[in-house]
Amino acid sequence: MTAAFREAVIDLDAVTANVRRLREIVGTPHAMVVVKANAYGHGAIECARAALAGGADWLGVAEIAEALQLRASGIEAPVLAWLHDPDEDFVQAVAAGVDVGISSLAQLEAAAAAGTPDAPAFVQLKIETGLSRNGIPASAWEGAVARARELEETGVLVVRGVFSHLSNASPEDDRAAIAVFERGLEQAEAVGLRPELRHIAASAAALSLPESRFDLVRLGLAAYGLSPFGAESAAELGLRPAMTLRGQVAAVRRVPADTGVSYDYTYRTADETTLVLVPLGYAEGIPRHASGRGPVSIAGQRYRIAGRVAMDQFVVDVGDAEVAVGDEVVLFGDPATGVPGADDWADAADTISYEIVTRLGGRLRRSYRGASA
Ligand SMILES: *Cc1c(COP(=O)(O)O)cnc(C)c1O
Repeated sequence: MTAAFREAVIDLDAVTANVRRLREIVGTPHAMVVVKANAYGHGAIECARAALAGGADWLGVAEIAEALQLRASGIEAPVLAWLHDPDEDFVQAVAAGVDVGISSLAQLEAAAAAGTPDAPAFVQLKIETGLSRNGIPASAWEGAVARARELEETGVLVVRGVFSHLSNASPEDDRAAIAVFERGLEQAEAVGLRPELRHIAASAAALSLPESRFDLVRLGLAAYGLSPFGAESAAELGLRPAMTLRGQVAAVRRVPADTGVSYDYTYRTADETTLVLVPLGYAEGIPRHASGRGPVSIAGQRYRIAGRVAMDQFVVDVGDAEVAVGDEVVLFGDPATGVPGADDWADAADTISYEIVTRLGGRLRRSYRGASA
């Protein structure tokens, strides 16, 4: 397999296997795989198909536009979208059979206006339980569920679900949020709502807090084979990273000791050595903050970036290793194969693996392997 100049290779079989494994662990009746932000940089349509093959029965996205893209590609599985443009009228969502996450009374009324008794709007009401992002505040919840029930009785709207999202601040904070959620569920039932999907857990809680699982878990990061925990690796969870980020060596030069490397000369060679040019830069989403630190693997050897990450490229000091133009450079992939992981890049850039994979773009090509490819 020859590497492309700059490429993210996505192993769709890994996504399928991860989802199957996660379903076994959580044991919930339903599992949603979250494919927002181009499936965290992995390719939304391809990963949606791979996730469904692994037993996901729901897909989750932030924006309705992302849901409509899935529909346009022929994906008919249930989809929930939960973060809306204030001007969104939900007409396209209802026409496309996309469930609408509702975080305000205004959104509830807009969704009802987009539904008809023949084609009702399917909504899932989001209650704010402590993350301080969106969701109907607990103080307004009783009024909101009463209004939702009223609208449901007219036939224009169906409340399919009630959901929230956790902070992962600590198990105690998450349990407190779950208690708020359960009170909200009781209030919804008291006005006659019968939501078939109650959900609050994303990857971290789904894996670590069984009482958060309810009817459905929303799996993002873990489905792509990355661990939401610092202390527990993906391999320990039985998950395999789906993405390998790699490129080809674009140039090789032998230089004397005390040669300055890349902008600002933040790196100078200690001895005569070989410098290798890697054609991925911050335009591709390689964090400039990982300058001097980001790890790569060339022919099974581990190196670090020498000096600054530039827009199009960075340099690696390989010492006396024999490296040629065209050789494969792996930035990250499955650590079980001996290459750095996305977590190593997250450490190098003081961030989380979510950001490392999701920010990739620019001139990077994505290619796919596996049965769903
Ligand atoms: C992104 C997101 C998820 C998925 O989170 P992971 O930690 O990647 O599993 C779940 N639910 C909501 C509301 C989200 O925004």
